[in-house]
Amino acid sequence: MKILVAKNLNKYYGKYKAINNINLEIYEGEFVAIVGPSGCGKSTLLKILAGLDKPDSGEVYILKENIYELKDNELVKFRRKNIGFVYQFYNLIPVLTAKENIVLPSLLESNSYDKKHFNNIIEVLNLEEKLNYLPNELSGGGQQRISIGRALINKPKILFADEPTGNLDSKAKKNIMNKLKEYNKNHKQTIIMVTHDWSLAKIADRIIFLRDGRIENASK
Ligand code: ADP
Ligand code: MG
Repeated sequence: MKILVAKNLNKYYGKYKAINNINLEIYEGEFVAIVGPSGCGKSTLLKILAGLDKPDSGEVYILKENIYELKDNELVKFRRKNIGFVYQFYNLIPVLTAKENIVLPSLLESNSYDKKHFNNIIEVLNLEEKLNYLPNELSGGGQQRISIGRALINKPKILFADEPTGNLDSKAKKNIMNKLKEYNKNHKQTIIMVTHDWSLAKIADRIIFLRDGRIENASK
């Protein structure tokens, strides 16, 4: 089943065309990497696909919903329910513990969280020992694992990740990539990941190559 369909996306910054007539389709359970050199429009495209930044023209359908036709507050709810987003620089809340950061989206959604699901995430991400720490008491890899847990707590239909290991050493990089792959395989989690690093992209099922805001080549 197609879980995300993007049609004729265009986005300008002033006169500069950052996204140039992009069409793509993502299937349920796929792990897709979007790869390209710095400045080619990866982050811009990912934000558009995730409902975080409206394109100047074109449509994004997630679960057949035309997301930019939704009212702002509806889109916020739609995102909270269906989308997880992992940022390069984690974006954790510094005064909350690891556990509090992870469960926050679920508390916002339903005032509670699924303990079994939480425990499963903690186990997969090896966070058992870290739950009571503040973000700045943990390594970069630890902080990124927390931010992945936070992105997964509401069981998102799609997990988006923008250079999730861009700020990590090579050991932590490998660890995070393996966790994402494991979660994709074991939970059929759809993942759309952006990276400028070809060697990381190879872990995905499919690579989409971006250059100057255009899709250059989609390979299986
Ligand atoms: P990537 O993530 O591939 O490095 P970006 O999507 O961040 O690329 O940026 C694509 C292009 O758009 C770059 O040339 C960048 O300088 C430009 N750009 C990105 N965000 C903005 C913005 N808010 N205002 C103006 N130009 C921007
Ligand atoms: Mg970027």
